[in-house]
Amino acid sequence: MSDKAVLRSLPSVDRVLSLAGATVARFGRAEVTEAVRAVLAGLRQDPPASGAPETATVLALAEARLAERDRSNLRPLFNLTGTVLHTNLGRAVLAEAAIEAAVAAMRDAVALEFDLGSGRRGERDDHLRGLLCELTGAEDATVVNNNAAAVLIALNTLGAGRGALVSRGELIEIGGAFRMPDIMARAGVRLVEVGTTNRTHLRDYEDALSPEIGLILKVHPSNYRIEGFTKAVAGAEIAGIARAAGVPMLNDLGSGTLVDLSRLGLAKEPTVREAVAEGADIVTFSGDKLLGGPQAGFIVGRRDLIAAINRNPMKRALRLDKIRLAALAATLKLYRDPDRLVERLPTLRFLARPVAEIEAQAQRLLPALARLLPPAFTAEACSCRSQIGSGALPAETIPSAGLRLSAPDSGGLDRLTAVLRDLPRPVIGHLRDGALVLDLRTLEDEPGFLASLAAMPADALA
Ligand SMILES: *Cc1c(COP(=O)(O)O)cnc(C)c1O
Repeated sequence: MSDKAVLRSLPSVDRVLSLAGATVARFGRAEVTEAVRAVLAGLRQDPPASGAPETATVLALAEARLAERDRSNLRPLFNLTGTVLHTNLGRAVLAEAAIEAAVAAMRDAVALEFDLGSGRRGERDDHLRGLLCELTGAEDATVVNNNAAAVLIALNTLGAGRGALVSRGELIEIGGAFRMPDIMARAGVRLVEVGTTNRTHLRDYEDALSPEIGLILKVHPSNYRIEGFTKAVAGAEIAGIARAAGVPMLNDLGSGTLVDLSRLGLAKEPTVREAVAEGADIVTFSGDKLLGGPQAGFIVGRRDLIAAINRNPMKRALRLDKIRLAALAATLKLYRDPDRLVERLPTLRFLARPVAEIEAQAQRLLPALARLLPPAFTAEACSCRSQIGSGALPAETIPSAGLRLSAPDSGGLDRLTAVLRDLPRPVIGHLRDGALVLDLRTLEDEPGFLASLAAMPADALA
C-alpha cells in the first residue's frame, strides 16, 4: 500500500474515540483524545508498510501510551538486592498494623492535636511520647522528620554559638550528603575535634574542655569500621566527663535498635535503652532503619532538654504529619510484645529468616525461572550474603541464598537487568561476578513474584 493510501485509510480521531468507552472511563476524555491524536500523528509521519492499522489497533496503541504515562515509579518492587534496609529502595517495609493505622489516619479526621479526654488542645508528640519513654527508659521524647533532622535540631538547641567536642574517628559522612561537620556548621555549632582518626582517649576530651564548649557529641560510625590499632571512649565515660563539666552529652546512634539483636543471631548493637542508661542526656535514632517503621527521627532524653528542643522554632519546620505518627505509634506498640515482634515486623522477620528456608525457596523457584529464560541464559541456585543496610552493623553480613542469573555476554546481562526493572512489579537484584544475583531473603510473596516474571515479554531477551 502506498503511503498516500495508508494516510487516506487511517481512522479519524472521532472514530477511534467511538470505541474508547472503557479507556475514557479510566484516563478521562481529554487524555485519551490527546493520546489518539499523538498515535495518528506518528502513523502519518511514518506510515507502516503493512498498511493502515485497524481502528482497534490505533486505540490499543493509544492505551499503551496512556498506561506507560500513568505508571508510577513508586510502584511496589521486589528488593532482592541483599540489602534489607536499602535507602534507595525506601528502607523499612512497614508492619501490617502500621499500614492499617496510616490508612485509617489518612481517610478520616483524627485527634492529632486534640485531647479527647479533656476536650482541650493536645500535643502531636503525645501520641509517641509515652511509648518512647516506656521502650527506651528515657524521661521524655520528641520526634522529627528524620534522624538527620533530629541531630540538626538537637545540636542547634544545645550548642548554637558554642563548641561541640567530637572524636576525629566519628566525623562521618553517611550517604545522601549527611556529613557531620556540615550538619554541625548549619546547626551553628563550632566543631572541636578531639583525638585522632583511629584512637581517641578520655584525656583528649578532658584536655579539649573549656567554658566555650556547649556539648559533647558521640556518633555511631554506622557505615564504616576502623580496625587495627584503635581506641574509642565508651559512652558511659564520655557521659561522666560531660556531667562533670556541666554540659550535655548527645549520642547519635544512627540506626538505633530497641531490641538486643544478638537474640536474632546478629552481632550486638547498643540498644537505645542502653545508650540512655549509660548517661547520654540526649539520644537520637532513625524510625526507618532497624526500628522498622516509616521515616522519622527520634530524640529521647532529659526532660528539660527535650522541652528546649520542642521550643526551638525549627521544630515546626521538622514536625511529622498524622499519617506517619499513626504508623509510628502502631510500629512502636509491636515492641510491647517481644514474643511476636519478629513475626510481625518485616525488618526483623527478614533478618531472622533461617538460611535453610531461603535455600528451599531458591530450589522451589529455580525451575520456573529457568523456563522463562532463553537457552543462552542460565539460572542456578546460589548461596550469597545479605547485609542489613542503612548503616547498621556495616561490617557484618548474614548467610543467605538466592538465584544466580547469567547471560551469554555483558550486553545480555544489561538487557536482563533492564527487563526485570521494567516488569509491572520490578525485580531488583545485584550484580556480582558478572551475573545477576537475586537474594531471596526478603521475598515473601512468591506467587506475586512468579506472576510478575510471567509478564516478561516472550521476545524481551531474544
Ligand atoms: C543514618 C544516620 C543518620 C541519618 O539518619 P536518617 O534517618 O537517614 O536521616 C544520622 N546519623 C547516623 C549515625 C546515622 O547512621
